[in-house]
Amino acid sequence: MKYIIIFGIMFISSIILFFTLREFKKSRIAIIASIWVLVLAFIGGKYFFEKPIINLVGHEKETIRVLNPYTEEGANAQYHFQDVTEDIEKTGEVDTATLGTYEIEYSITKDKKTAKVKRVVEVIDDVEPVITLKGEENVIASSMELYVEPGYDVSDNFDKTINEKVTEELVELGNNIYQKVYTATDDSGNKASVTRKIEIKDIVPPIVSLYGTGVENVYQDGTYNDSWAYANDDLDGDVSDTITVSGSVDTSKPGMYKITYYAKDKSGNTGSAERTVQVIDKEQAGTVYLTFDDGPSTTITPHILDILKEENVKATFFILNYSDSTEYLVKRIVNEGHTIAIHGYSHDYYTIYKSEETYMQNLSQLREKIKASTGVDTTITRFPGGSSNEVSSYNPGIMTRLVKRVIDEGYRYYDWNVSSGDAGGASSSEAVYQNVTSALKHNRSNVVLMHDFSGNTKTLNALKDIIHYCKNNGFVIDKITTDTPMITHRVAN
Ligand code: ZN
Repeated sequence: MKYIIIFGIMFISSIILFFTLREFKKSRIAIIASIWVLVLAFIGGKYFFEKPIINLVGHEKETIRVLNPYTEEGANAQYHFQDVTEDIEKTGEVDTATLGTYEIEYSITKDKKTAKVKRVVEVIDDVEPVITLKGEENVIASSMELYVEPGYDVSDNFDKTINEKVTEELVELGNNIYQKVYTATDDSGNKASVTRKIEIKDIVPPIVSLYGTGVENVYQDGTYNDSWAYANDDLDGDVSDTITVSGSVDTSKPGMYKITYYAKDKSGNTGSAERTVQVIDKEQAGTVYLTFDDGPSTTITPHILDILKEENVKATFFILNYSDSTEYLVKRIVNEGHTIAIHGYSHDYYTIYKSEETYMQNLSQLREKIKASTGVDTTITRFPGGSSNEVSSYNPGIMTRLVKRVIDEGYRYYDWNVSSGDAGGASSSEAVYQNVTSALKHNRSNVVLMHDFSGNTKTLNALKDIIHYCKNNGFVIDKITTDTPMITHRVAN
């Protein structure tokens, strides 16, 4: 406006100048001078009234991704043909961590003349969340009820609460096929989804479990009682009644046997479990032959028989002559499956070891009596005092001759390698227990010397514990038979 007023004044001045100069008949000069004044007015006016010029570098509208770095390109400016970019003032900031629209204004003021440009920057989130399945993309499950969905992992470049913005959907496609779809949508509406295919099919076999232990031991010639198994199926529940077994145990042959139990579910899936049964060689286990000498007695022998019956073990009784009133005990020994054996009609060392004949007579007399009482013709014997006795030394060499003689006449004699001490050193039932259990060994036959003579409560009271010790420590308790290898002492006379 000012420019127009000043230009108007200059224009009027040049007209006045033109007419003034024409008055003096100098019209050509007047024209030139007037035009010259006009040009000066024009150029001068433009120079003094022109505004600064400002230009944006880059675009007027920009879009950037949230959290990405943003560098403003700025603006440049000229004034009076000079670069005045560095005098540009900027207002407004872009916060790249916050979604939104930002305006930045660049302005320059020169000689109270201002020029401005504006840029609009939009900070947006255009990145989809990242969602992934936990577990496999295709799964097979027994049933939808039993199926456990492993879920998903989700994250977003910007939206911190994306976890709460996942929707899930179960779509039934038919044919026992389902789809689990997870969709994550962030605050800016970016979406991502994943899909898992779930096929319902019974492929899980029943779980077969064993009663008892996985490894069982049974002694040679013992009885193997299978403790069986049970089975559960994830869908059908208890399927124990489908159990079948393969494998068997031959207790006459030491070795390892495998028994496998199979169970089936309604879909025909088969589960199994296996048991190992070890048949242990008697000798390896260590056989314990409990032997009782010098009976029968009415005070001790019946109680010993009761314990043996209760514990279901068999023993060997080396008896002496008996009366009519104790004959029932001899019969009971036989009837209850124990071994009846000959200790001697008499135990009197000074009579029986007088000669071979007196000794053999002492044997056969009792042998006949036992046979008459029980029908058992026993040839199993034990020398009174043992084959290593020195009480017979009044008759030098008698034992050397007798051990040969008894064998020649078809007898078998058994000394002992475990002594309970119940006829001498052991003062209590605890001592009897200690003496026996401390001397028992595996990998051999253990012949245990005990007595059932009248009043021997030490042995009676220790017997049950001794039997339990044997059972708990893997020993086999058995009775002596004519097949039992002889356990003999070294002859001392
Ligand atoms: Zn004796």
